[in-house]
Amino acid sequence: MFNKILIANRGEIACRVIQTAKALGIATVAVYSDADANARFVKLADEAYRLGPAPAAESYLRADRILAIAQQSGAQAVHPGYGFLSENEDFAAACEAAGIAFIGPPASAIAAMGSKSAAKALMEKAAVPLVPGYHGDDQDPALLQKQADAIGYPVLIKASAGGGGKGMRIVEKSEDFSPALASCQREARASFGDDKVLVEKYLTKPRHVEIQVFADKLGGCVYLFERDCSVQRRHQKVLEEAPAPHLPQATREAMGQAAVAAARAVGYVGAGTVEFIMDVASGQFYFMEMNTRLQVEHPVTEMITGQDLVAWQLAVAAGGALPLKQDQLAIRGHAIEARIYAEDPDKGFLPSTGALVHLATPVESANVRIDTGVEQGDAISPFYDPMIAKLIVWGETREAALRQMDAALAQYQIVGLSSNVSFLRRIVNHPSFASGHVDTGLIARHHDDLLPPPAAPSAKQLALLALAEALAQQAPYPAAAGWRLNGGQTRRFAFRLDEEEYSATLRHQADGFVVFVDGQSLPARAQLQGSQLLAVLDGSTIKATVARHGALRVLFENSERLALEWVDPYAYTELGVHGETHLKAPMPGRVVALLAEIGKKVAKGSPLLILEAMKMEHTITAPGDGVVQDFYFAAGEQVNDGDELVDFAAE
Ligand code: ADP
Ligand code: ADP
Ligand code: MG
Repeated sequence: MFNKILIANRGEIACRVIQTAKALGIATVAVYSDADANARFVKLADEAYRLGPAPAAESYLRADRILAIAQQSGAQAVHPGYGFLSENEDFAAACEAAGIAFIGPPASAIAAMGSKSAAKALMEKAAVPLVPGYHGDDQDPALLQKQADAIGYPVLIKASAGGGGKGMRIVEKSEDFSPALASCQREARASFGDDKVLVEKYLTKPRHVEIQVFADKLGGCVYLFERDCSVQRRHQKVLEEAPAPHLPQATREAMGQAAVAAARAVGYVGAGTVEFIMDVASGQFYFMEMNTRLQVEHPVTEMITGQDLVAWQLAVAAGGALPLKQDQLAIRGHAIEARIYAEDPDKGFLPSTGALVHLATPVESANVRIDTGVEQGDAISPFYDPMIAKLIVWGETREAALRQMDAALAQYQIVGLSSNVSFLRRIVNHPSFASGHVDTGLIARHHDDLLPPPAAPSAKQLALLALAEALAQQAPYPAAAGWRLNGGQTRRFAFRLDEEEYSATLRHQADGFVVFVDGQSLPARAQLQGSQLLAVLDGSTIKATVARHGALRVLFENSERLALEWVDPYAYTELGVHGETHLKAPMPGRVVALLAEIGKKVAKGSPLLILEAMKMEHTITAPGDGVVQDFYFAAGEQVNDGDELVDFAAE
């Protein structure tokens, strides 16, 4: 076994690898960018070395520097995590050439599976079932169009080098193919430096079921069952579970064997995932791609098998045999993972950046696990994936796991940036997810249930917010002291949600307050300690959390979250500027394309500019009929959050 390893990654996966290394008595070396100098993984590692500035190209993708640090620090192996260099065959080969073990498959296996097109060609030979489609080398647009017409619509255009749900376009009809191809190629070139695509039949009601495989250098190869990752948005996984609900045992075995065949066909070593797409109606499954690394959602497999997959990776990379044989592996209970992201589900899942001003997490136990790279006070930067944490739960049954997940999500409190916690909770509680009859269209189909408009605050919530506000402001608010002496004074506290104003009025009395809200008058007593509010309202005792961040007030009470803006009665008012249209960058990113002509009339809603940020393309559209006077940035330029992008004159 190794004495020291280097982790060529960041965030939660770096922490995850360090955790197992520590348990095995292996020293760890972290490498970090300037954005991560104070990150949790840097603190956890035994040694840490700076790579360079924040952008991945200047830090986590600098293979040369990482290798030099590995040699300098005496690390015997490199764990690449996922993303970054994990599926980079040149890096794997360079490690081996430098006499440092790459904790992953041989470069040849990464290469074989690196292109979705080439992988499909290989799998065809290994008799692994494929989605009908075209995955050839000829990329003539006319030929691709002909292939798509022959496959029959809808079809899916996919970047061969794609990943992370990026570089995919669904095409519903022949006329739409050509613009979709151009846009797919543009994204593929920008994200993967390669615009090769494949075209395949788009299954309209599929499940995503993937198999965890593991192989050693001694010829052993097993599968550690499946994970269902059907709950997705924009082809990105949101919730994952193991085992896949309602999967017949015969199908599980057939998929497991197909996955092992796929791995063997490329001389695989280490942890890998063979992803299949399964037609819900027929139950038929087809090879989609193989990810030649540890997967984000590996913890659900660990929870149902009782195995530590990072420990397996280390054992295999050091030349050892797989810890268990196929017939020694079994499924126990049910596990679910929720990816907690810094994003705003109400704004089309726009990634959110900023500091985790307030962060409270559920208590971890044998059944509740949190894999994360951040702590309260840390920031989610625009440079990397906006994942905050993975919440993983286990139960004897799926029902028990669902209950655990709901309870754990209810305890997850995040303030300072937008997160998808409430959205995840609504999915977990939705009857269609609870039934286990999942498919990749679940989120889109139940969009309105899963993303309801924010509910108006209740009288109780307003009362609690007003109490917390009064107590929090007491110190800098000398008049409050007077309240105690004189029982007659009242103060109104107003809050804003979606342009609506709500309020509660407090009257201070010798023994507490009376809250006037919604036509009721409720006797109350309250204490505030930091963000913890303990109140007795109308006879019932209530424990709540009220986080304050600028004007934002977030109340967590009875597993409900409510966010509003406190309306400061003494605030300076800004003079409104009218008649100007601001088209600002919603987040830091890069301008990919300018879509309107300067001086030409455009209609409301027309696309003006495409911005790429945090792995996604965002289209900036015309706010009304009008004319683009100027673009402030050219394609390829970097913009900051809030930068004016377009000078637009509305009609
Ligand atoms: P998984 O099924 O394991 O989630 P994904 O393909 O979604 O696999 O991506 C895994 C991780 O790798 C994600 O966290 C994502 O941020 C990262 N990733 C994917 N593609 C890229 C890329 N081109 N560059 C950097 N990181 C990437
Ligand atoms: P990535 O490398 O980005 O993970 P995949 O090929 O694994 O790309 O596909 C990602 C997701 O896109 C799948 O999980 C599935 O939801 C959807 N998808 C992929 N291929 C098809 C298809 N042929 N029909 C329907 N959905 C598909
Ligand atoms: Mg995939």
